[in-house]
Amino acid sequence: MVRACVMTAPDEPVEVRQLPEPTLEPGGVVLRTIYSEVCGTDVHLWHGRLAGVPYPIIPGHVSVGRVEATGGEVRDADGQVLVAGDTVTFLDVHENCYSCWYCLVAKASTRCPKRRVYGITYSASEGLLGGWSEKIYLKPGVRIIRLPPTLGPETFISGGCGLPTAFHAVERATIRLGDTVVVQGTGPVGLCACVFARLSGALNVIAIGAPRLRLDMALEMGADHAISIEDAPASRRVQIVHDLTSGRGADVVIEATGVPAAVAEGLEMVRDAGVYSVAGQYTDAGDVTLNPHRAINKKHVDIRGTWGTDFSHLYRAVQMLNKYRERFPWTEMISRYYGLEQANEALRDVEAGRVVKAVVRPGAG
Ligand SMILES: [Zn+2]
Ligand SMILES: [Zn+2]
Repeated sequence: MVRACVMTAPDEPVEVRQLPEPTLEPGGVVLRTIYSEVCGTDVHLWHGRLAGVPYPIIPGHVSVGRVEATGGEVRDADGQVLVAGDTVTFLDVHENCYSCWYCLVAKASTRCPKRRVYGITYSASEGLLGGWSEKIYLKPGVRIIRLPPTLGPETFISGGCGLPTAFHAVERATIRLGDTVVVQGTGPVGLCACVFARLSGALNVIAIGAPRLRLDMALEMGADHAISIEDAPASRRVQIVHDLTSGRGADVVIEATGVPAAVAEGLEMVRDAGVYSVAGQYTDAGDVTLNPHRAINKKHVDIRGTWGTDFSHLYRAVQMLNKYRERFPWTEMISRYYGLEQANEALRDVEAGRVVKAVVRPGAG
């Protein structure tokens, strides 16, 4: 039997249950989980804020583990055969169909209606398909990345799902050399976005968030300026961005807050003909009022949504993480490790913003 956390229904305590060992199919892989993560999405899942979630589920969508067994010859994304003991991660999104209109014509696979996501849209009755578990079953076709030997599992999990999400948001933002970039939000997505904006050639990166601990971390993760939302009201924050950009506003603004009001504020921070990349509104947190004449049309602004990640974002983000593993203090984003029995505490800590990144360590007992 395998010990796993099960989220039985919205707003019910997460339970640790004994579940059957996975049945290995040809092309499948059994992982012994090293780390999984708790992110804001898990808190939303806990409160039933995502549609179409097949409770009971095993949460945990981004994880890293050690290969325990493979169903015959299974290869990673580089074509190398996986062997027992390899440290790997995988794209949580599975079963993109590559035969629907969105996959084939729009080439927007993150909007494929057939996609399923580990830890979110698989039921616990379908197997060990979430990371808050001693083992994870990778179904045939799951896209696997072997971590480079120099990249430790702690470093990988420190950004968690924030790492590929930020990578995608920065890719969508098309930062140019010498741009001034504002990053709204200093959670894992925002902090990783500061790094990727810096590495994209930004001249100045301005992080906006709270609390002080996260702002200090932003300064170590590539930001040149850190503005506290606790010290400066919205109008003042907009003014500071304009003061730092000769009154024009930032070339690029990346939203990673999850707060609808931040979108109206971000549109005031972006310069005319700039780019606004929205990545933080992953759940429906409500409406916001804005003036479309001033905020969009007259501004000639390019607004880009960022939904989910595809394999390229995770793959490239892992390679970049490995390359710059010593330049930025990635693992300082990990505030605390939690055993499976502490999952409810981890959810409460993430919800209250007491931690930057909460990591689940199923082996901790
Ligand atoms: Zn599709
Ligand atoms: Zn997540």
